[in-house]
Amino acid sequence: MSVSQQVFLRDAMRRLNLTRDVFAARIGVKRRALDTWLLPEGSQEARGMPEVVTRFVTEIVDNEALLKKYAQSAQSGPLRNRIATGGKHQLLSVDQFSRESVEELFRIADLMQPIARRQKVSRVLEGAVLGNLFFEASTRTRVSFGAAFCRLGGSVCDTTGFTFSSMAKGESIYDTSRVMSGYVDAMVVRHPEQGSVAEFARATNIPVVNGGDGPGEHPSQALLDLYTILTEFSRLGKLLDGASVAMVGDLKYGRTVHSLIKLLALYRGLKFTLIAPAGLEMPEYIIEQASKRGHVIEQTASLEAGLPGADVIYATRVQKERFADEKMQGYTAEFQVNKAIIDKYCRPDVVVMHPLPRDSREGAHDLSTDLNEDPRLAIFRQTDNGIPVRMAIFAVLLGVEGLVQHSLRDVTWSPPSHVGPDDSVFHGID
Ligand code: ASP
Repeated sequence: MSVSQQVFLRDAMRRLNLTRDVFAARIGVKRRALDTWLLPEGSQEARGMPEVVTRFVTEIVDNEALLKKYAQSAQSGPLRNRIATGGKHQLLSVDQFSRESVEELFRIADLMQPIARRQKVSRVLEGAVLGNLFFEASTRTRVSFGAAFCRLGGSVCDTTGFTFSSMAKGESIYDTSRVMSGYVDAMVVRHPEQGSVAEFARATNIPVVNGGDGPGEHPSQALLDLYTILTEFSRLGKLLDGASVAMVGDLKYGRTVHSLIKLLALYRGLKFTLIAPAGLEMPEYIIEQASKRGHVIEQTASLEAGLPGADVIYATRVQKERFADEKMQGYTAEFQVNKAIIDKYCRPDVVVMHPLPRDSREGAHDLSTDLNEDPRLAIFRQTDNGIPVRMAIFAVLLGVEGLVQHSLRDVTWSPPSHVGPDDSVFHGID
């Protein structure tokens, strides 16, 4: 097997769209045996899977793939052509994805995990240069895009804010974009105006990734959010089809939820509960787009009413920097997602997410830190997933995803087994 046993099995379950229980029954093994095969290599209870099972699973997956291939014969060719926009290899909106193409991207992200977890290195983007152009505040997105490009062997040039860019001298988006195209091989752009990244993209033929365009979209965040949900569900033995997702907070200006709801809507039979304070509700055009696909969408201003039954809670920060004439300073206390409210209203296997940053200032009432050691809180697994997903995005847009597997070499240094002090809490569940 060229990939790890864990990646192989997760991929098989995802392709077959089966829960752990059903998958175990399908291949005729006990659920307990499957669980031990799915443990990370090196963990004490991990067991090797018999060769005959590997061959059987491969056969089932291949048959399924063949059937799918016939059904989707129109959708062939490299992934970057299938998700292209305006004939270019750029990522501006989640609207570019179908369920099949998003899952294909995630299989590439799975391949990147040994690199993201610092077990392997790759140089498939050696010589390539990324321009990271952030005209709005960012920590995670800018650094993780940069780290993802570097971990594939490329180099990164950064610029942050307007003050130190030529835009402060009145330069147009068109000029900046065209000039940068002569310097770098791909660009990630964040800009405070909705639609501005698309304008950058029109002025160049090199790959451009939307790193957030004002209250518009944040496609790479939504992709890593969906990847996280699928990974968490695979661990919990759940399927996304039919699941219940509660989105909480500033749904008006929060671009991450705008992208995420559209991406989740590619799945079947979801229930979305949109919980927002008055005046910060999800824009109607996004609700319409998601509801056209037959999902149940409910709106409320109360956590107590909206949280029960949720499989995922996706909390967000108040986007005060985008307020026009809204007066709010932060959420009121009844709006805070914290341990007490989760214990009272949610199921024990709920997955709690947030795109971060959380506003930890007094009176902000953003997602509480009292869940930090609670395994239901997935926020740091979510941020960690930003690396393999963004690596997959670059590999696809630059057309090198097929080279990754054979390019892997062992790392020469020894990273700590847990990168954060709280990670031991999660050890054994991922
Ligand atoms: N980091 C996310 C974004 O850039 C969420 C946030 O800022 O609240 O949209």
